[in-house]
Amino acid sequence: MPRTIHIIGAGLAGLSAALRLSASGERVTVHEATAFAGGRCRSYHDAAVGMTIDNGNHLLLSGNHAALDYLRDIGVADRLIGPPAAEFPFVDLLSRARWTLRFNNGRLPFWIFDPTRRVPGTRARDYASLARLVWPPAGKTVGEVIACSGPLYSGLVEPLLLAALNVDPPAASAKLAAAVIRETLAAGGRACRPLVAREGLSATLIEPALAALRQRGAAVLLERQLRALRFGAGRLEALDFGTETIALAADDAVVLAVPPYAAAALVPGLAVPSEFRAIVNAHFRIAPPAGQPPLLGVLNGTVQWIFAFPGRLSITISAGDRLLDSPREDLAKTIWAEVAAVCELPAELPPWQIVRERRATCAATPAQDEKRPGAETAWRNLVIAGDWTNTGLPATIEGAIRSGNRAAELIAGR
Ligand SMILES: Cc1cc2nc3c(=O)[nH]c(=O)nc-3n(C[C@H](O)[C@H](O)[C@H](O)COP(=O)(O)OP(=O)(O)OC[C@H]3O[C@@H](n4cnc5c(N)ncnc54)[C@H](O)[C@@H]3O)c2cc1C
Repeated sequence: MPRTIHIIGAGLAGLSAALRLSASGERVTVHEATAFAGGRCRSYHDAAVGMTIDNGNHLLLSGNHAALDYLRDIGVADRLIGPPAAEFPFVDLLSRARWTLRFNNGRLPFWIFDPTRRVPGTRARDYASLARLVWPPAGKTVGEVIACSGPLYSGLVEPLLLAALNVDPPAASAKLAAAVIRETLAAGGRACRPLVAREGLSATLIEPALAALRQRGAAVLLERQLRALRFGAGRLEALDFGTETIALAADDAVVLAVPPYAAAALVPGLAVPSEFRAIVNAHFRIAPPAGQPPLLGVLNGTVQWIFAFPGRLSITISAGDRLLDSPREDLAKTIWAEVAAVCELPAELPPWQIVRERRATCAATPAQDEKRPGAETAWRNLVIAGDWTNTGLPATIEGAIRSGNRAAELIAGR
């Protein structure tokens, strides 16, 4: 009888572990608490806008190699759409100035010497300060390593780090900021092309993964919440789903790929990050105007990024905790006023939806980063995965997939 690997949680961490293990011939069963796979990265039909939308806009970069490998593995690498070069159009709501950051492909940043490609108002020598963020001292915040003011900060560092770390950049972990910069800006434009799942997150990252798992003989069981883990001497002995308990055979193993608060409730003594940051998304059913770029950065507004999809404009506001208690309609109006001004659209509010994910990611601060556990546990047949584990990256798709891959490697090696 071959061993069974049980994966708890069908977010990207759990799915990537399941894909790796089933590809190497392991017998895999995924158990997901809710009625859908995808966790924090999924699509759903929204009645208010009358269309299928994502729970939040997700941006990937061409340097996210684990995410791209994952998509290649499930046969849909072509579903991430982006410009052929690393270009980021911006608009400043205060001055109404518009410009496009254009990184060159190689590692040598020629673009910083070209005023038509760099941040307006900056000089090439300003960019030298970023070198301090590439290998920063341990335990520091970004604000302790670089000056968080001036045109380079507001035109490049702040939007990049807000999007990647989902925390106010001055308070962000410099170590995590450095990981992002090393894998993107410092790697050259080739690693910085913005990529978006134009057909939706589920159609791109989730449904094809489920199809590949089925094809590899893995079972994915929905509405199956793990209630408790039963521990023996040095190993897990059983999984308790409330109505059913599964006894684990000697070789069976478990990947626990649930959010940190769920993991802490299941595993005694597990230290986990306990602070989170929100992401607010607003979706408007309206055709993007001709020439609207797929992704537009906005400075000096409530809106941070405008994503253009067929028949819809969707807005992202990271570290959006200050907006959690605003009345929804007021928020929709504020956001739409900015979008209408930027995109030259009528002031009348189109059909809209606001999605506020309170615990979108764990807080990427030095103190919270310290609390992220590794994948291995004190129990030889239990490993942990998730964007919040100690991946060395902020809580992102890339981090979640790398953690799932790492969990699969650990299990395969046992
Ligand atoms: C609004 C928003 C915008 C984002 N934008 C970006 C972006 O632009 N780029 C980017 O890279 N990342 C982005 N992220 C982050 C990204 O979505 C996450 O890093 C990633 O999806 C986390 O995957 P995960 O598998 O670690 O966790 P999750 O997706 O949280 O998966 C955990 C799964 O475990 C299940 N579960 C929980 N408890 C149990 C239990 N007891 N039994 C069984 N199952 C259980 C949950 O239901 C869930 O399906 C964003 C996140 C949000 C919310």
